[in-house]
Amino acid sequence: MYNTTNLDKLKEECGVIGIHAPGRGQLARLAYFGLHALQHRGQESAGIAVNKEGSITYYKEMGLVQEVFSDDVISRLEGDITVGHVRYSTTGESYVINAQPLVVRYKGGSIALAHNGNLINAGEIRDDLEDQGVIFQTSIDSEVIANLIARYNAFGIEKAIQKTMEQIRGSYALVITYGNKLIGLRDPNGLRPLCIGKIEGGYVLSSESCALNVLNAEFVRDVAAGEMVIIEDGQIRSIQYAGGEKKALCSFEFVYFARPDSVLDGQSVYISRRNAGKMLAKEHPVDADVVIAVPDSGTVAAIGYAEESKIPFGEGLIKNRYVGRTFIQPDQKMRELSVRLKLNVLKENIQGKRVVLIDDSIVRGTTSGRIVEMLKNAGATEVHLRVCSPPVKYSCYFGIDTPNRKNLVGATHSIEEIRKMIGADSLGYLSIDGLLKSIDESGAGLCSACFSGDYPMEVPKTSNKYLFEKK
Ligand code: SF4
Repeated sequence: MYNTTNLDKLKEECGVIGIHAPGRGQLARLAYFGLHALQHRGQESAGIAVNKEGSITYYKEMGLVQEVFSDDVISRLEGDITVGHVRYSTTGESYVINAQPLVVRYKGGSIALAHNGNLINAGEIRDDLEDQGVIFQTSIDSEVIANLIARYNAFGIEKAIQKTMEQIRGSYALVITYGNKLIGLRDPNGLRPLCIGKIEGGYVLSSESCALNVLNAEFVRDVAAGEMVIIEDGQIRSIQYAGGEKKALCSFEFVYFARPDSVLDGQSVYISRRNAGKMLAKEHPVDADVVIAVPDSGTVAAIGYAEESKIPFGEGLIKNRYVGRTFIQPDQKMRELSVRLKLNVLKENIQGKRVVLIDDSIVRGTTSGRIVEMLKNAGATEVHLRVCSPPVKYSCYFGIDTPNRKNLVGATHSIEEIRKMIGADSLGYLSIDGLLKSIDESGAGLCSACFSGDYPMEVPKTSNKYLFEKK
């Protein structure tokens, strides 16, 4: 099966949501709408767990949110606290057992846990636990978290979570429900986003603020790096369990993963993308007649490029929004068809023109060549590709599915080689400095390791990242 949803893009691995609103009712339905807003973060499985007086029921399945939950299923999920999850998996073997929320029962009670991120020392911890006779049921690293929490049960849930966090390394935005609490945590570097909103009768935790808007929730604040927030009895308490680590919110959230209507750590994704387009026009100007985007993720940056360069913006590629997520594709011919099925050229805006084509990123380089070819076949006299991020050269260990380095075209080819390969008349990438400044004036507090190799923490020399299914 071949995934046609995102053409040659890195894949986000999940989105989480949690709602604490006892007495309000229909929380699973709210979580369902919230997960819809986070669907772009993971399209392979979806799940919702509800907590009623400490007793947890859940439903999770493979598929999109609207495919997984019928009205009947949602109506049967009743509770005062809910946790939801959407997941993208890196392998074809994305079994439902690896879907989240992860619900476990142990001596201290039941917990439901939803995790976005990737633990880099989960393999070692799991080995230790297995040596001690612990049995694991899934191949996701989040089960390590659940097991450690259960192990520290005698300390009470908050202390047990803190002791667990002291042991794990990596990236996480976690939403957990236990007893009468909804608990949210963000890793000490703040790699993955998590924010808090206020709704009638309670609070919401969400990977992105766009889900708060859907739920008509008022944005309260982001969870800080190394912070645990505990929501119970209508109040939020905060424990700063870690601090002093280098702040490193994933810059790729701004390039591609997050929705443009989200605000992450105070930075608007829309504004940062427009800034990136403007910056790109300054760094790589070109004489041309029209600026077009690879929709949708390149659109905002293309508007920025057009504004700065004074070259008019036009629609040049039309996206078919109704292509299924996967379809059977037996050979190379069909692979090429998949690009045309997804994107079609608007000849009227292209013919006889010098085109600036804006894309958010190039991963393998496979799609870009086909798009350039389509534009030239439609009569473009020149195609100048401008990319709103630097070349992706290094693997991500923090929850984003990056191909092996040997398949990253930015790691294996020079820019001129890539240009030749994709057949563009010129090629320009945004600089790392330009990208970081387009997000935050100071350019600080962001991870850019997949571009620079400068990881915010020590990463394994030999990658064990495929030991676990991603989420
Ligand atoms: Fe994001 Fe890249 Fe850092 Fe991974 S390595 S967290 S994709 S910026």
